[in-house]
Amino acid sequence: MNIAIIGGGISGLSTAFYIKEYMPKADITIFEKENHLGGKMNTANKEGFLVEEGSNGFLSNKPDTLELVKLSKCEDILLKSSDEARLRFIYDGSLEVLPESPGAFIKTPLLSLKGKLRVAYEIFAKPKKDDSDESLQEFGYRRVGKEMTDVFLDAMVAGIYASTPAKISAPAAFPLVVNLEKKYGSLFKGMLAKKKKEAGPGGVLMSFKGGVSTFIERLQKAMDVNIVKNTDITTIKKFEERYRVIGKNLDMKFDKIILSAPAFESAKILRTLAPEIADRLNDIEYSPISIVGLGYDNLNHDLKGFGLLATTRANQDVLGVLWDSSIFLDRVPKGKKLLRAMIGGQRSPQLALKSDEELIKLATNGVKNTMGIDKKADTFYVKRWEKGIPNYKVGHLSNVNKIFEMLKNYEGIYLNSNAYRGIGLNDCVSNSKKCAKEVTKKI
Ligand SMILES: Cc1cc2nc3c(=O)[nH]c(=O)nc-3n(C[C@H](O)[C@H](O)[C@H](O)COP(=O)(O)OP(=O)(O)OC[C@H]3O[C@@H](n4cnc5c(N)ncnc54)[C@H](O)[C@@H]3O)c2cc1C
Repeated sequence: MNIAIIGGGISGLSTAFYIKEYMPKADITIFEKENHLGGKMNTANKEGFLVEEGSNGFLSNKPDTLELVKLSKCEDILLKSSDEARLRFIYDGSLEVLPESPGAFIKTPLLSLKGKLRVAYEIFAKPKKDDSDESLQEFGYRRVGKEMTDVFLDAMVAGIYASTPAKISAPAAFPLVVNLEKKYGSLFKGMLAKKKKEAGPGGVLMSFKGGVSTFIERLQKAMDVNIVKNTDITTIKKFEERYRVIGKNLDMKFDKIILSAPAFESAKILRTLAPEIADRLNDIEYSPISIVGLGYDNLNHDLKGFGLLATTRANQDVLGVLWDSSIFLDRVPKGKKLLRAMIGGQRSPQLALKSDEELIKLATNGVKNTMGIDKKADTFYVKRWEKGIPNYKVGHLSNVNKIFEMLKNYEGIYLNSNAYRGIGLNDCVSNSKKCAKEVTKKI
């Protein structure tokens, strides 16, 4: 069987890897538009500063990525985040530690007494009766109150999805949390029940020595597949029982095709074959986001922590700042420090695509306002993602269910990327494994 995978990000690569695990003889070709694999997993080296253009790692409390690392024999490059970087901060007019215990929560100045009492009331708040979709803001206001939503959920959703509570669907973006309400009637009751059942250490952020690109290179080498880079696939067409994959100067036939490109690219590719699916894929929204790396030769700040997320109401130009040289110690030459500011998202999309100079200015002001760092960085790196992160808006899940229902009419065509059911690396790997099982009919 010959299989085409369109898109060489982590979804495409891990799907290829698992297909080879289940069907070693499968003949796989991965088509990638860019001159490198990895997609949103890419590490830039700017004068010795290793700046992640997208994701910087994954949590160890889900088994998926760790399993892939093990199977691909990449354990020697695994890198655990530093214990010094456990503290997380929220900027809401002042920089405060994110409380991670009930005692710290009672003491935190991030919420008023009224706000904290409203959170405690969660245990009595009536659960939602129906299964209709709702925004994270509606969910949060119902369960934990406005203040908790506007501070904690707002900062969290900026950090994960570059979105805002009002613009994202709670069941699509946080299915596990929403399920706690469904199953236990309350988030607290659910968390307590789960804690009893799953007693064990929480997740630790993991990455790879030399940055995430090291893993991408090793993963590619760990499998026997054909890689075609610098190739923008534009169309697929039916050819008897098979499909033609078409790009510039390229027309090849395959038995099966897995579309692992972003939804809007898959829409373009499917436009001729399945226009009704293409329309729905185009309805999947993306948030623009830019990353600005700020490298310092000498910075008089201990950067003891993971970084900060700013709330919308704090009115900052940065969504957050990650203290990368504290999280993974190998990201900088000795004695130097690296910050990574995130700009844009659903909160301020107009900022994400500004010029390099303007983005550097916004990031510099951002670290000054939130962290009091008044020093200009010595090295800069800017990465702009015009359509960076899928924004699972209200209605996302029903759209995705419909897409996958319609896809059943196109035997041999599969969709698998972060656009549908999870954007974290663990989700991408887990969904890729499922996709590989389906392709090789192991389920
Ligand atoms: C700034 C940022 C920070 C993030 N941080 C984290 C984090 O810390 N932890 C975490 O778990 N996740 C994080 N994520 C999310 C995570 O990185 C992504 O969800 C994941 O990498 C997406 O992988 P993918 O393979 O599904 O898609 P992509 O990485 O987008 O890969 C799709 C690939 O398809 C290619 N392609 C597109 N069109 C075509 C075409 N027509 N023909 C051929 N190829 C095509 C693209 O070039 C790309 O390589 C972050 C994302 C961003 C943007």
